[in-house]
Amino acid sequence: MAWRDRFEGWSFSPVTWLVSLLVCAVTTATALWVGEQYAQQLVDRRESMVARDVVAAIERIIATVEREGARHVAPLAGKPCAEIGRPLRERESYIPYARAAAMVANDVIYCSSARGEIKVPLSWYFGDNTAAARHQRIVLVGRTPFREQAPALVLYLPSASQPSQGAVFVIDSTYLVDTLAHGKEFGAGTIALSVGEAMMDQDGTYRDAPTPIPLSTLARSSAYPLAVAVVASPAFSSELMRRYGLFVGAIGLLLGLLAVAGFLIVAAPKRLLLQAVRQGLRRREFHLAYQPIVAVRTRETIGVEAFLRWRHPRWGMIPPASFIETVESTAVIDDITRFVLHQAVNDMNRYCPTRALHVAVNVAPLNLRRKGFAAELAALQASMPAGSGLVVEITERHLLADHGAAMEAFDRLHHAGIRLAVDDFGTRNNNLDMIRNFPFDYLKIDRQFTQDVSPDGRALLRSIVAMAHHFRLVVIAEGIESEAQHALLAEVGVDCAQGYLYRRPASAREILGDGEVQETEAVVAA
Ligand code: C2E
Ligand code: MG
Ligand code: MG
Repeated sequence: MAWRDRFEGWSFSPVTWLVSLLVCAVTTATALWVGEQYAQQLVDRRESMVARDVVAAIERIIATVEREGARHVAPLAGKPCAEIGRPLRERESYIPYARAAAMVANDVIYCSSARGEIKVPLSWYFGDNTAAARHQRIVLVGRTPFREQAPALVLYLPSASQPSQGAVFVIDSTYLVDTLAHGKEFGAGTIALSVGEAMMDQDGTYRDAPTPIPLSTLARSSAYPLAVAVVASPAFSSELMRRYGLFVGAIGLLLGLLAVAGFLIVAAPKRLLLQAVRQGLRRREFHLAYQPIVAVRTRETIGVEAFLRWRHPRWGMIPPASFIETVESTAVIDDITRFVLHQAVNDMNRYCPTRALHVAVNVAPLNLRRKGFAAELAALQASMPAGSGLVVEITERHLLADHGAAMEAFDRLHHAGIRLAVDDFGTRNNNLDMIRNFPFDYLKIDRQFTQDVSPDGRALLRSIVAMAHHFRLVVIAEGIESEAQHALLAEVGVDCAQGYLYRRPASAREILGDGEVQETEAVVAA
């Protein structure tokens, strides 16, 4: 088998390939987008987690200073510095994280564990609004009165009975910077602590003006007036984007490819078949077989039905049942029907040029929808021997689906003098409705109704014949194989019949050329 033949079914049209490519591109792009969105969510979640962790760590530091400060230093409040200087130094050392502790009286810091007696108004740290300062309790400063460029977190613990008196603790920024920088290990790039309007980042850089950090995730403390903003490091973000973007993108591409492959695999056999049919037409692999249609009363042939036959060079004889339905749903049926019509008319002209004989051809609904179909048939009929003509057979199942278009086509055919037959009558529902609505000349009873010679079968057949005759239709019974069936037809008044009993379908020469076909007045004149 040539490789060309092997891949025959895969030669899809450029539009199919383009659509497939688009499907792959769209699924991949969508998956990439979904992947990026997911990665961004992970980045946001990580930032929020780090921010909340850092807030909790700083809360723990402040709470420790608060607790230990209240226990060891606060009781010294209000006492003269000369008296408490030494115990203050000693007790300050019990308080973790604190660089210094100092006592406050009348809103003035008067005694420091680091410097002894001093005089610094509380407002130096907390601003003029000391009432608010007492409420706020903590402040982030860039320096202290005694140390330049040494940011610190300052905590004020006022005494419950006298708020202008209390203790101040300076928490070293080193602890805070360490805590902030810890977030870097979890993918954070920038971690900034803000207290009021002051801010300090993981490198210890202090700003006293509010500086919004773009794209940051913020976590606020519920215990203290502080917040922590976190921005993931570019390396962490791009790693997640790359990992999930690529991963989900690859899944999208795979799904797209699977969808396209599925479509192509499902469509390939059909395309292979259609291609083989087209090729078969070009290579003259098709021919027609004819079966006489006889008058039941005399057994004289009054017409023939043409059946398509396909002899494939590799697959052998292929019955129409295994390909015609697929072909009928595509434009290829136009080529098939055109071939059948021309071949049938040629055979008629060649083998029985002087006989008045009707030849029936099976036609698909798609043929009826084609503009010019009726005109083409009329021209063919005009080229046939005088008295002979074409009969269009259409299977009833197709008609009802497209009532309007079928009716229009039938009218045009009727006008052109072409006769119409409903094929396989009884195989679907709504038969009666269809008989009433379409201008048929013949009704062909399906084989399944002519096989049953029981009383029930007879009754059914009899009623079909009565109904058909009521609508002035000539009844043709299909699939007659036995004398018993023939006798039944005669009994119930069927006009014509075809079947193996009279003649199996055979070549044009055998059926039309050997004198078997009789000249007739055509029962269809009835
Ligand atoms: P159909 O038009 O109802 O044709 C009758 C089928 O019954 C034919 O089969 C015929 O060979 C077969 N047949 C005739 N007498 C007997 C009998 O006594 N016993 C049995 N068991 N069968 C009998 P075929 O040729 O295989 O065609 C099958 C169907 O394929 C046809 O049903 C028709 O619907 C479709 N078909 C055939 N040729 C064409 C064509 O040229 N164009 C289109 N569109 N369809 C066609
Ligand atoms: Mg038929
Ligand atoms: Mg039939």
